[in-house]
Amino acid sequence: MVSSISLLGATGSIGMQTLDAVRNCLPDVRVAALSGFSNMEALAPLVDEFKPEMVWVPDGEATEKLKEVSKFAFESEILTGDEGLILCAAESNAEIVVNALVGRAGLAPTIAAINSGKNIALANKETLVTAGELVMSLAHEKKVRITPIDSEHSAIWQCLQGSDWDDIEKIILTASGGPFRGLSREEVANATARDALKHPNWDMGAKITIDSATLMNKGLELIEAMWLFNQPLENIEILVHPQSIIHSMVQFTDGSVIAQMGLPDMRLPILYALSAPDRVETGFPRVDFLKCGNLTFEPPNTEKFPCLALARQAARTGGTLPAVMNFINEWAVGQFLQGKIRFYDISEIIAEAFGIYKVKKVAALSDICEAEGWAAEFIKGR
Ligand code: NAD
Ligand code: MG
Repeated sequence: MVSSISLLGATGSIGMQTLDAVRNCLPDVRVAALSGFSNMEALAPLVDEFKPEMVWVPDGEATEKLKEVSKFAFESEILTGDEGLILCAAESNAEIVVNALVGRAGLAPTIAAINSGKNIALANKETLVTAGELVMSLAHEKKVRITPIDSEHSAIWQCLQGSDWDDIEKIILTASGGPFRGLSREEVANATARDALKHPNWDMGAKITIDSATLMNKGLELIEAMWLFNQPLENIEILVHPQSIIHSMVQFTDGSVIAQMGLPDMRLPILYALSAPDRVETGFPRVDFLKCGNLTFEPPNTEKFPCLALARQAARTGGTLPAVMNFINEWAVGQFLQGKIRFYDISEIIAEAFGIYKVKKVAALSDICEAEGWAAEFIKGR
């Protein structure tokens, strides 16, 4: 069982649920470091409750604000800037880093944590989409364990306990289908960020909620699964399962299928990422199979949700293309959230970039940086 954590992205959806899980189920776990970004009012009570030795905030102004609203902040070491976040990941006394940052910001701290030999509980899927090959081989080299927090990947990992990975025939990645599953293409075309933010089964941060509406989230998860479980693209099938009770399945070479089930509650995969292979006792609600109705399955509709087809293309092509896709998607989701572009502009902009970008092999992190530089130029002035 883990004894201490450094939590990056404490004020977000996964961050708050991690602290809730620790508070309720792992009272002996020490929180050695916490980070927040834009909301010091939300960070302050967490700092006061968990009294971490290290706290990260973006800059001096946020430091001042935090000191105004937190009683304990004066006793913590407050770090700022990109370097500070890296120190929070790599230099705290924590045994495991929980990376609950959103987007590209998660990559550098993941690499820093691996380089310092710290195990990682990873929610930040963008890390593996952008640099999966580099991150997994570095983790292997440094003997660092990366445990998934994403519910589907936690499910797959749970299904694989005690099995030989050579016996995997395919992974069945389930998707809720998002808030627009039942709408026509025309209705989807007119959907606003407000409509997209109403996810039927999960309460999550804004970016992943939009990614769930476009099905880009499932595309990112496909790439995440390829790297985490060392599987080729053709071994991963995506199945829409609107009830979100089966979080994913593994089919083995004998034809047997193992599924992991539970209510959609992110505290379960978070706890498993911290405790595996042990299980933590919880008083959380249980699945009532007599009440949850039929469990249904259907194929994903890539005509209505072209982001999934684009992510498959990026996965198939490999190299720097997933990093370019991830960068442009993150920007486009931000634009959509601000009402500056429409729903299908997200996939159209990504498709346009795919049409002109010359994909390179990834030999080093500099190749990723260069690809992201290209993507930054591509979106400039739009
Ligand atoms: P969120 O937006 O709720 O929280 C993100 C956290 O990162 C916040 O603490 C925010 O302050 C911080 N942050 C944002 N930008 C930053 C920056 N540039 N530098 C430093 N810190 C920054 O997001 P979330 O929903 O908690 O998702 C976090 C990650 O977990 C994402 O990669 C997401 O895909 C993944 N995930 C989330 C869920 C979920 O249920 N929320 C489920 C599965 C996977
Ligand atoms: Mg998921």
